[in-house]
Amino acid sequence: MQSELGEFELIQRFFKTGADAMLSLNDRSISLGIGDDCALLKLNPEETMAITSDMLVEDRHFFANANPEWLGHKALAVNLSDLAAMGAKPIGFTLAISLPRVDLAWLEAFSKGLFALAHEYSCPLIGGDTTAGPLNICITAFGSIPQGKAIKRSEAFPGNDIWVSGLVGDARLVLAALRHELTLPPKDLQAIDARMHQPTPRIQLGMELRGIATAALDISDGLLGDLKHILTQSRVDAEIFLDRLPKSVTLQQQSESIQNEFAACGGDDYEICFTAPPDQQNIIHDISKKLNLAITQIGRIKTMESSKPKIELLDQNGRVLSESKVAYLFKSFDHFA
Ligand code: ADP
Ligand code: MG
Repeated sequence: MQSELGEFELIQRFFKTGADAMLSLNDRSISLGIGDDCALLKLNPEETMAITSDMLVEDRHFFANANPEWLGHKALAVNLSDLAAMGAKPIGFTLAISLPRVDLAWLEAFSKGLFALAHEYSCPLIGGDTTAGPLNICITAFGSIPQGKAIKRSEAFPGNDIWVSGLVGDARLVLAALRHELTLPPKDLQAIDARMHQPTPRIQLGMELRGIATAALDISDGLLGDLKHILTQSRVDAEIFLDRLPKSVTLQQQSESIQNEFAACGGDDYEICFTAPPDQQNIIHDISKKLNLAITQIGRIKTMESSKPKIELLDQNGRVLSESKVAYLFKSFDHFA
């Protein structure tokens, strides 16, 4: 890149500012524009539509020789994950794809992975675009939410608990192994491989959290960096118990700093991080049992102390870890950084 501008500053300067100016002039049917996991359109008095787009680019989001069946799964899964983060039920999706060549075996496997997941979530393909060019897959997914029930990033409140679903850090561990940053025994790699290549969109969880979670997002760029989006939009601070981050047995075999870094900042987890009032704890434990999915309370929302949102990391005794000790954790993945 020619400039120091990060991804979010770029969106703000060249897209969000222009978009906001139009929104204020315009249309009461747009209830939420740029800035959350999905945009929200009011369809009728009972129903809101959630819309999200995510693109996978060769050599950026996947290796050139990636398994096409996994790629078909992942391209849809990352979009369904954004629907899940707002509490939406999938309606359908479009697929825009550019292909370097017509490779029938590749297309067969890609569409197999794509449709297996589409069937699982009853989310049909309803259109798209196909062109020749470097391999690039862009999906736009549409979902439905009862009016007023969308879970936004902007409504976390001081005193709320912070929760995360599933386990975090494994996708980053797989990436580290594939990049030869570390060595994993083949059976360990196999045990967590799907966490990077075939993430599970937490659709049922998102729908269960309607009316319970105050704010939510899906973790695509790393837990702490993504949590910051909730803090910025809700104008609150947070404290996180570092040792409560839910980690796989495989990740727990790594050094403490790798465990912390991958779980807190790894990215590609596609779990849901959400906030909820403490009186919802029992209901959240019941949802966890019903879905057979771990949901872990990892911290708390606090009143904002300055104009910038702050995350304090706590040790197991609840003591604040000094910033210098955990500086390596405060970097989140930014596509243009
Ligand atoms: P997510 O990780 O949840 O998919 P992103 O970090 O990609 O979200 O994007 C943050 C917000 O910016 C989202 O609301 C997204 O719709 C919006 N956004 C990203 N790129 C653009 C763009 N080129 N034009 C308009 N909005 C964009
Ligand atoms: Mg998201």
